[in-house]
Amino acid sequence: MRRIIVAAAVLALLALTSAGSALSSNVTVYITRTGSCYHTAQCSCLHSSAIPLTLTDAIERGYRPCKLCKPPALDEPVGAATAPTETIEVSVVRVIDGDTIKVLYTGKPESVRLIGIDTPEITRGKNEPFGAQAGAFLEALLADRMVLIEFDVGQRDRYGRLLAYVWAQGDGDPAPILVNAQLARWGYAQLLTIPPNVKYVERLRKAVGAARLARLNLWRDIL
Ligand SMILES: [Zn+2]
Repeated sequence: MRRIIVAAAVLALLALTSAGSALSSNVTVYITRTGSCYHTAQCSCLHSSAIPLTLTDAIERGYRPCKLCKPPALDEPVGAATAPTETIEVSVVRVIDGDTIKVLYTGKPESVRLIGIDTPEITRGKNEPFGAQAGAFLEALLADRMVLIEFDVGQRDRYGRLLAYVWAQGDGDPAPILVNAQLARWGYAQLLTIPPNVKYVERLRKAVGAARLARLNLWRDIL
């Protein structure tokens, strides 16, 4: 019985991943011979080399979005049509780590912990693998995009931080990006579910599953 359940789960994940790839596979981005980012065709970073490849390939090979040219964001594997219901626009003061940002909220600087995910620690003297990359990835995602936060049931944690889904919308983006899910989809975050804040738990779980199957970043060495 257990074997049947496992097989069904694997099939479901495979279906999910191929759906995700189909969404992104037609988008062409460019990499350089030496850099670690991918770019739009017009980016000034491409002055010496410009190697075209699909967005999906770029991501699976570990390239990150360029901060300057804001290349297309990865389509999420499922639920991409789900838009946020009630959001508040904030300005980002700085990115603290992969799952925490400082924003101006009702005129005051406040820490916002992204709901549903956990990225490797790089604060308080820790330097866990992929922590710095998760922070850099988050910075690149938020750069020059309008940043919106959406609350779930519980608005603050026991440290007084705001708990939120972060949405980012740029000029070239077809829809706002659920940043929490992007971090998971790129293999920078594990799932961390703390009820009652579970509004997007299935979407986040699927994003983590797709990253694991593609062995991105945190999942690079799993068997
Ligand atoms: Zn670029």
